[in-house]
Amino acid sequence: MKKVHNFNAGPCALPQQAVDKAIEALKDFEGTGMPVICVSHRSKEWSAVMDECRALWKELLNIPDTHEVLFLGGGASLGFLYVAMNFLEKKAGYLETGVWAKKALKEAKGLGEAYAVASSADTTFNYIPKGYEIPADLDYFHITTNNTIYGTEIQTDIDCPVPLIADMSSDIMSRPVDVSKYACIYGGAQKNVGPAGVTFVIVRKDALGKVSRYIPTMLDYRTHIDGGSMFNTPPVFSIYVMNETLKWVKEMGGVEAIHKINKEKAALLYAEIDRNPLFKGTAAVEDRSIMNVCFVMAEGYEHLQDEFMTFAKERGMVGIKGHRSVGGFRASIYNACPVESVQALVDCMKEFEALKK
Ligand SMILES: *Cc1c(COP(=O)(O)O)cnc(C)c1O
Repeated sequence: MKKVHNFNAGPCALPQQAVDKAIEALKDFEGTGMPVICVSHRSKEWSAVMDECRALWKELLNIPDTHEVLFLGGGASLGFLYVAMNFLEKKAGYLETGVWAKKALKEAKGLGEAYAVASSADTTFNYIPKGYEIPADLDYFHITTNNTIYGTEIQTDIDCPVPLIADMSSDIMSRPVDVSKYACIYGGAQKNVGPAGVTFVIVRKDALGKVSRYIPTMLDYRTHIDGGSMFNTPPVFSIYVMNETLKWVKEMGGVEAIHKINKEKAALLYAEIDRNPLFKGTAAVEDRSIMNVCFVMAEGYEHLQDEFMTFAKERGMVGIKGHRSVGGFRASIYNACPVESVQALVDCMKEFEALKK
């Protein structure tokens, strides 16, 4: 198989051992003589996977008993609507830090009063707004902890006077999180915890049931709490691979150990971006994401963009093109992206510099 360095933004690199286990399970799932995608989701073998996966989430993120973990469909994008459906009674506030945050806000606007408490739209979302005040009369305050497209990240669990809700699609499991500070955390699995097709939700049970609207059955978190995420057929294969991905996280030493490696990987790449005169970072230094590293050609070298892209491709780099809305480059260095890949990209940037200077 061709050796590549996978910097895709999502779907993206997954731990090889999780992929290998998935291939095995597609042949014979737990000695059942059937592929995992052909067994009943009511079988005891499948129930064991669901239980193990839930338990791993709780263990790895230290999730208190006040919260429930759900595995749903629809992606983070349906999650935007779920949040508004389940939590918005009168008024909600959003931190507008990018396109995903805007899309989340749009869904809330369809159901009630919702607005951006603060925004970084003025400079194409290249920083995280600070010094804003969260009004105490909001039903909830919504943040996007990692802004996948712009490479900015909120790396601490902020204090919030109202229920705090976070889209953590692209940085879940990358750092320890104080779950007790959140009423709800959700996201698509396909950035850091598995393949596309499953959406994780961590929800505080006593934060639910406070809205007066009718909530359609499938959009009511309580349906899925009661049904153990199996009210209807769950995305079995995606959950299977997610479970194997979490097992890998645990084997790596857990979220704290992964966090340390993530910080080292990001530091390595940002150091090269800052040192190499051909490149420059685009996100405000204090808000730099450790998951998505965005950069462009520096002034005077803009004409070399396509050439560097080709140069990097020839050396096995995959997925470093920036999002179509911002251009430039983006290296997504999620949990499963090995330090060797980051080093390979750094070497590639150095080589390119030597060629051009
Ligand atoms: C990718 C992404 C989404 C969209 O996820 P889907 O599962 O494709 O709907 C939402 N929010 C953030 C922060 C993302 O990175």
